[in-house]
Amino acid sequence: MVDIKSMTEEELAGWLKELGEPAFRAKQIFKWLYRGASSFQEMTDLSKALRQKLEEAALLAPPAVARKQESRQDGTIKYLWRLADGNCVESVLMRYQHGNTVCISCQVGCRMGCAFCASTIAGKVRDLTPAEMLDQVLFTQIDSGAPVSNIVLMGIGEPLDNFNTVLRFLTLVNCPDGLNIGMRHISLSTCGLVEQIDKLARHRLQLTLSVSLHAPDDETRSRLMPVNRGVGVEKLLGACRRYFDQTGRRISYEYAMIDGVNDDGWQADLLAKRLRGAPAHVNLIPLNEVEESPLKPSRRVAAFQKRLESQGVTVTVRRKLGGDIDASCGQLRRKAMREDAHG
Ligand code: SAH
Repeated sequence: MVDIKSMTEEELAGWLKELGEPAFRAKQIFKWLYRGASSFQEMTDLSKALRQKLEEAALLAPPAVARKQESRQDGTIKYLWRLADGNCVESVLMRYQHGNTVCISCQVGCRMGCAFCASTIAGKVRDLTPAEMLDQVLFTQIDSGAPVSNIVLMGIGEPLDNFNTVLRFLTLVNCPDGLNIGMRHISLSTCGLVEQIDKLARHRLQLTLSVSLHAPDDETRSRLMPVNRGVGVEKLLGACRRYFDQTGRRISYEYAMIDGVNDDGWQADLLAKRLRGAPAHVNLIPLNEVEESPLKPSRRVAAFQKRLESQGVTVTVRRKLGGDIDASCGQLRRKAMREDAHG
């Protein structure tokens, strides 16, 4: 079966041509796909014969809502999607003043092993396809009725560990006949794969690169994030500087504040020192507690922020949305896995 939803409109036209269909059919079908059609039979402006042909040759398997949690505080909605093969991933819809944002997953699980993260506990099961990434945006929009204007790749998985799929996904959401969401409305978050950051830089996309830094010193960062071992913060920041030089886009650094681990004054000073001279933005995130982990949220977020600001660093503290629904990614999937395991 051909995964037509992972195709660009041009590729779809090429494939249809092989079936002996004219190019304008691609536009019709493309539109149906982005309207969230769940079967070819819905595509009523196609002939019955073509619909039948498509059904035999092409894959169309939208995800089902396995669970859905809606915050009473701020309207945040968290979706657990069941994919065609039974695996589950999460997306979160967040409502901001500047528009609705959907946070999506790019892998089933994750192999990066960060100590504080729920998504990586059971490792990586598989990569998502471009269509499975796209469907999270489409069906969040359709189910919630909220038009999505921004996308963040900050759900389950490591985007740069599924590089080609993520690039294709970006091309698809960018397409004017599809979602038409511009690169400047997209953020990609990475745990810091140095070579892939360089590779991404060469594409000169105007998206925002978020780097999950979480510690300015190698001892702490390597303890929290295995990806740092044998590489180090200096090399990572070097890649970030090159990324800025290539794209002109300021890097955003994420820093989850963990009690007694990365919230000391000297770490604020070292962070300020290491970021000096390159346009950067630090986003302090109060740690979300994960049941399986002993790490606790820091009580020194405000002091840490002040200390960075006094040294000229641009800092924001992430506003917590969906606090009443376990809205940090990986948590709902973990919960469902635990409950399924216990019957
Ligand atoms: N793999 C990518 C994107 C997924 S994680 C990355 O590492 O950036 C999205 C963000 O949430 C990352 O900054 C990650 O470090 C952070 N995160 C993961 N678990 C968290 C937790 N328990 N509390 C706060 N932030 C967390």
